[in-house]
Amino acid sequence: MSYNYENGYDENVEPKNYGSTPKPNGFTPTCRFCGQTQMQGPYDSQEQADESATMSCDCPEARAYQAEQERKQKREENIVKLKSRLGELQGYCEKRQVNFDNARYDTVLKIGIDVLDGIIDSATLKFARMKVSVGINNKSNLVIKFTYSDGASLEV
Ligand SMILES: [Zn+2]
Repeated sequence: MSYNYENGYDENVEPKNYGSTPKPNGFTPTCRFCGQTQMQGPYDSQEQADESATMSCDCPEARAYQAEQERKQKREENIVKLKSRLGELQGYCEKRQVNFDNARYDTVLKIGIDVLDGIIDSATLKFARMKVSVGINNKSNLVIKFTYSDGASLEV
């Protein structure tokens, strides 16, 4: 094996061999679970280096951690999408003079998050002439549908 100190590392060397290589003035990324180390990189802190190592390690604990991080990230993204869709719903209600105040907004938001978290499978809310349904499609994406009924019958 050979080390190329000019370039910092030699791609042909297995990352696990770097554990015992002294790396002055840097952080050695180390998996938090199995302790496997990787080549140094431009990290701001030991914590950031370890996070990077843990996110790319393939030991079972690190893989479980990665899945959890992905799930969290996807949840955050879905909440952002949910809020954007609720913004559209707000505009939709406004155009039809349907009251969609903060209390209703918060209710639909909470239900949407419960659907994202798998606490409930789906929900349909009706208020004024609005029907809002929240559920998950077969790609695990949140789907919000809203329809306004203008009322087919006349009250006399
Ligand atoms: Zn690991």
